[in-house]
Amino acid sequence: MKHRNPLHAPGTVVVVWAGELRARLDAARGQGATVGFVPTMGAFHEGHRTLMRAARAAHDVVVVSLFVNPLQFGPGEDLDRYPRDFEADLQVARQEGVDILFVPPVDEMYPAHHQLTTVHVEELTEGLCGSARPGHFDGVATVVAKLFGLVGPATAYFGRKDAQQLAVVRRLAADLCLPIEVVGCPLVREPDGLALSSRNRNLSPAERAAATVISRGLRTGADLVRAGERDPGRVRRVVANVLTTEPLVRLEYAEVVRAGDLRPLERLEGEVLVAVAARVGDVRLIDNMTIRVDPAGASVDLGVTAEEPIGDIPRPESTPTFTVQGGAPCAAR
Ligand code: AMP
Repeated sequence: MKHRNPLHAPGTVVVVWAGELRARLDAARGQGATVGFVPTMGAFHEGHRTLMRAARAAHDVVVVSLFVNPLQFGPGEDLDRYPRDFEADLQVARQEGVDILFVPPVDEMYPAHHQLTTVHVEELTEGLCGSARPGHFDGVATVVAKLFGLVGPATAYFGRKDAQQLAVVRRLAADLCLPIEVVGCPLVREPDGLALSSRNRNLSPAERAAATVISRGLRTGADLVRAGERDPGRVRRVVANVLTTEPLVRLEYAEVVRAGDLRPLERLEGEVLVAVAARVGDVRLIDNMTIRVDPAGASVDLGVTAEEPIGDIPRPESTPTFTVQGGAPCAAR
């Protein structure tokens, strides 16, 4: 697809002020351009690139925000240790044809640190990471709502790596009648199975090696379901048991829930999410897989593996190519 870039600025423009962002995007939309948006916290990897490519393939103007949102970190969490690498991120944004990299200072997003409005999504935020990180999803929902208001995208792209976050954002967009299509993109893994995460940079070599047990646990659970197991409790226990074999990894939760509303199930049927969180040293990692269970059998989506191209998402010639390994492509539902 050929897209027009009415910003008349070749390459990636770095914008730090909300007013400038709005003015540029108002002008672009005024000329009929559509905006695709990818919210991030930076330290880019192939997961982020996948989202950028999906946005690039579908929209005239691609905006990526890079903002480590203090509101979604609890006391004692890793806000200060969160990886930051602006120069490398700018390079990635350029390679992926991003038009605007929005990098607001904290004061720009939260003037005088005086945010009186918080967006809270009920029910979906209660279990999984919501239990271990109270207030986390309020911080996510609030910043996403603010960014949606500032950017005014037609489509926003999120990774299925953060499955609960994707469910929360979809629901907030629907409940608040936001005219924004929320698209979920495949979870991207390292060749050894570890889900890509900016936080992987904070793992020591021994922790990095140990962390592969997380995706091994999911794969073991997937094998069990493929072999016919339909009891969510048994699948959960098998996944948890694999993770507890690794002394450097502390399991926080392994859960088997309905993918749509993240509720517990009696029996595996329909679209099922198997989600895990674990601490490896000081680093908290999450991972998941989706399983579609119907009378004919079960199909497992563990995402895609980096090093090979991701679906039919077009990308610049200069970047490495990817192949799908069973992962569903980006989809609005
Ligand atoms: P973050 O910068 O970690 O807040 O993530 C920004 C976006 O990238 C979110 O929509 C994440 O779900 C997505 N993302 C992060 N890691 C991955 C991954 N391994 N695969 C796919 N998407 C990812």
